[in-house]
Amino acid sequence: MSRVVFFILILFSSQFSISRAGINLPNILVILADDLGYGDVGFTGSKEIHTPRLDDLALNGVICNNGYVTHPYCGPSRAGLITGRYQARFGMEINCSYSPYDLKMGLPLSEKTFANHLKEFGYRTGIIGKWHLGAAPPFHPNNRGFDYFYGFLSGGHTYFPSGVTSTHPLLQENGLPHYTANEGCFLPLVRNDNTAEFNQYLTRELSQDAVRFVNESEEPFCLYISYNAPHTPLEAPEETIAEYQHIDDWNRRVYAAMIDEMDQGIGSIIDALEESGKFDNTLIIFLSDNGGVAPKPGHESENWANNKPFTGGKGSFLEGGIHVPFIIHWRDGLNSGVKYDGLISALDITPTLISVAGGNLENYDFDGVNIIPFIKGNNTDSPHEALFWRESEGACWAIRTVNTKFLKREWNDSTLEMYDMHSDPFEKINMIGNSRDMDDLAELWNTWNEENKPNILLQSYEYQLNRQEMYKELYNNEEKKSFNRKPMRIEKKELDIHQ
Ligand code: CA
Repeated sequence: MSRVVFFILILFSSQFSISRAGINLPNILVILADDLGYGDVGFTGSKEIHTPRLDDLALNGVICNNGYVTHPYCGPSRAGLITGRYQARFGMEINCSYSPYDLKMGLPLSEKTFANHLKEFGYRTGIIGKWHLGAAPPFHPNNRGFDYFYGFLSGGHTYFPSGVTSTHPLLQENGLPHYTANEGCFLPLVRNDNTAEFNQYLTRELSQDAVRFVNESEEPFCLYISYNAPHTPLEAPEETIAEYQHIDDWNRRVYAAMIDEMDQGIGSIIDALEESGKFDNTLIIFLSDNGGVAPKPGHESENWANNKPFTGGKGSFLEGGIHVPFIIHWRDGLNSGVKYDGLISALDITPTLISVAGGNLENYDFDGVNIIPFIKGNNTDSPHEALFWRESEGACWAIRTVNTKFLKREWNDSTLEMYDMHSDPFEKINMIGNSRDMDDLAELWNTWNEENKPNILLQSYEYQLNRQEMYKELYNNEEKKSFNRKPMRIEKKELDIHQ
């Protein structure tokens, strides 16, 4: 090879790599809502709650009509999303407690996040908002692939800097806010490894920080904005609540205002992308981590969300718990006004991001797929033969194929259900007695489950009780020992040497 040809080849390859690493790669914005009811945004049919910015993204992008998450509540769902692997693969089937000294309570260190992967392709990576995948230092977002973190490590947070909770009737108990389910919810916000400012309504604060991230980031960047809205505690600015006087129920009125604030916040991030010329080449994905809260026995007043047309809600394997609003927008890479009906999962997000960054999925062990060719119509197969769910190592479970859903939804009830998802997508008619598919679907689920691990985290509630007991015991031991200790005396001989 002549020197000239060699030089040209070097020049070409270096230009190509610069292009791959810095110019043509899309920016990425993953927006996650928390406990959002399926029917509570305009593009899924809400007439009560205003979400004009999300509706614009949906109408000018791709609406995924069959978008699912991997679990019907927060932590495990986020673990599936951020790794591209079913969380049962690594035994993370329950929420992480906020346990900053526990080196085992978090997303197992065997796993990589999409941020870990994207950094290898030259991305600046950031997460703003709720983490909920471990609070001890090894699990901190900065140690899981994110260059930047602003938000909170726990599973929830109050919305006002004062920590004063709303007039929500559930929040008042013994004069203290009821909202203590998420330890850490009153802690200061965190920016990387420091405490950080928190001076306004939380959703606005997070959105403002996201705007700053978009404006200051060199391209390509990946921002994961993980709102806790509209998760409890139900709190919103008074002026936004006042916009929803057409909703009689107070809880739902506040919840609507929380979604409205989130939509405005998303709008401000979109504006920042547009004003900086980055919008057209930003791949934007929006979804909720699970369905809206639905009333359950003992929790009848938790009725503020609307998962219609589905039944069930957060915590359920019925559609209302796991079938979520899901949109994708990428002006430079996808057509607008597309409605895609194929089976899509939050598992697909990580592999899709790796693919658009130029990665080869054969080098990874994902359960999800790159969904871009499916949405573009280049691949007309179903992205998944089936999607799977399980809780408590299989005490309840579900499987959805293109045509059928088969589930056992209660731990202590052996009732099985099967639905024809073509003729009965809202799960009204249980056809379990008429189906010949049970064996096949059970076998499919069993094959999937062979690759799974038992749950390796302690059940959060029991964990807290055990931890309280442990501290009580430690204290009692110290107290007992103290009974045998005589008070110390300053001895004469100590004084003598100074005289
Ligand atoms: Ca959630």
